[in-house]
Amino acid sequence: MLLMHPDKAWGSIIVAEGTSLRRRRFSIGHELGHFLMPSHRPCRGAAFNCSQTDLRLDNTREADRGRKMEAEANRFAAQLLMPPKRIRASLRSRQPDLAEIVRLAGEFDVSKAAMARSYVDAHRETLALIIAHEGRIKQAHRPDDFPWIDHRIGEVLPQDSITASHTLLPGQITPMEECDPETWLGSGGARKVEVLSEQLLVQKDGWAMILLHAEPVDRD
Ligand SMILES: [Zn+2]
Repeated sequence: MLLMHPDKAWGSIIVAEGTSLRRRRFSIGHELGHFLMPSHRPCRGAAFNCSQTDLRLDNTREADRGRKMEAEANRFAAQLLMPPKRIRASLRSRQPDLAEIVRLAGEFDVSKAAMARSYVDAHRETLALIIAHEGRIKQAHRPDDFPWIDHRIGEVLPQDSITASHTLLPGQITPMEECDPETWLGSGGARKVEVLSEQLLVQKDGWAMILLHAEPVDRD
């Protein structure tokens, strides 16, 4: 949380005990964002009390003022800890790869989930990220250039996806493999895509990270 003077003359950042160093670094960046952005004022009282859910919001065009501020603070923290130029300069491969996200998370000292979102945004290829838990979609990060994903938060993973039928252990990653675009995109989105590829990283406690790579139909 961020405690501060009403005029922002001073402030104190408080981080929860027991959270990992990487999460704390992101939380501190997030609260710094609230403090430094002049329009950010707590909705109630004199403090920003930010939850784990707040720290995942990423739609800065959100109509709700509170959620919009949270998303902006997250963007601030992400750009501070993982500047897109530095991510691009650190890439070893032009091909999108979850193994590279794991490596970069270590290099930048941030969580894999935070790096995955920033990687998707910084990469020159058209990418989206899905976070799943126990076979259901928990979060999706889809930049504007990625076609509409035809599955909602809370839904079961698409049956034909590579993810739905994997037999990997935590820490293991599939190759980036071509899949039927309609598996994820539905017919409208699928028509805009020449090739859709899917890659899966299995994590502990039933969590999984899915990277989708769309190669748009050449319109020339
Ligand atoms: Zn916040």
